[in-house]
Amino acid sequence: MNYDIAIIGVGPAGIQAGIHASRRKNKVILFGKVSESALWHAHLENYFGFEEKVKGKELLSAGIKQLERAGVTIVEEDIVKIEPLEKGFKLITEREKEFTALALILAIGIKEEKIFFKREKDFIGKGISYCVDCDAWFYKGKRVVVIGDGSSAIWGAKFLTQFATEVFFYFSKGELSSEEKKKLVEKGVKVLTQKPVEIIGETEVEGIKLDDGSVLKVDGIFIEQGAKGTLELLAPLGVELDAENFNYVKVDRKMKTSVDGIFACGDITGPPLQVAKAVGEGCIAGLSASDYINKIKGEN
Ligand SMILES: Cc1cc2nc3c(=O)[nH]c(=O)nc-3n(C[C@H](O)[C@H](O)[C@H](O)COP(=O)(O)OP(=O)(O)OC[C@H]3O[C@@H](n4cnc5c(N)ncnc54)[C@H](O)[C@@H]3O)c2cc1C
Repeated sequence: MNYDIAIIGVGPAGIQAGIHASRRKNKVILFGKVSESALWHAHLENYFGFEEKVKGKELLSAGIKQLERAGVTIVEEDIVKIEPLEKGFKLITEREKEFTALALILAIGIKEEKIFFKREKDFIGKGISYCVDCDAWFYKGKRVVVIGDGSSAIWGAKFLTQFATEVFFYFSKGELSSEEKKKLVEKGVKVLTQKPVEIIGETEVEGIKLDDGSVLKVDGIFIEQGAKGTLELLAPLGVELDAENFNYVKVDRKMKTSVDGIFACGDITGPPLQVAKAVGEGCIAGLSASDYINKIKGEN
């Protein structure tokens, strides 16, 4: 499944990028879940063209219809890994499907910071980690638990089985689907049904207390909320991030990042975190990525 341009993120930035890139006759694919956009639950009063308050959900749904009409493929899955190829990039989804594209547009928004345990910040670097990719190696031969509510946690638990001797998993957002549970169990992950409620340990993590009062001994706790964010997805590709805030990516006026063929737009490029800016940048990113494709295909 080869595409010219892969857009990661189905918010206003990604949708607008898709609209502009597809009008330049590129083969475009979009990844992500529209209901996870920051705009989904918001109401807008400061966006051009609407006299009355407009629901974010309505704006997004209309955008999706525009994309579908333009023939853009939408895959409602998160991307868990991006690998550079000799020409372009390989993208791996949460259900382990693989796609390739010559150019990438990153429109993943920013992650809301969520705390799971009251004392978790006291244990950062002492058994608490927010990045499986970065820290899995330190838990070789140890026992870990992964706690999370989305694709990055599920992927992380499976990945950690290559390092840790025992991997436990707690899904913090309702029930896991039977398909996801089966895949975790097949990899040797032990799925917890009791909710972790407290970190056990004085200065370092020694375990977790569950809501039935039992204690599970672990050396590490990985907290992975939502989908993979800026740091986890992009740092391995060498994309330069904002030195003061690793949620943000550095771009120039053409929405180019520091890596050839990778563009970014929307909240991920920094404030103001507004729909008008996301849409404007999405337009530029879509056009810049199209120019890039034309250049590498030698059509210009
Ligand atoms: C409560 C609230 C009220 C707001 N009110 C206003 C307002 O009045 N006016 C205004 O202009 N702005 C408002 N905003 C801000 C506005 O919603 C954002 O600026 C805008 O949605 C940013 O668009 P974006 O496309 O960059 O990111 P988002 O809309 O957040 O979209 C990001 C997309 O990326 C996807 N994604 C993330 N990680 C991955 C991954 N690994 N793989 C695949 N997909 C991924 C997400 O699922 C989502 O689809 C409000 C926001 C909130 C939360």
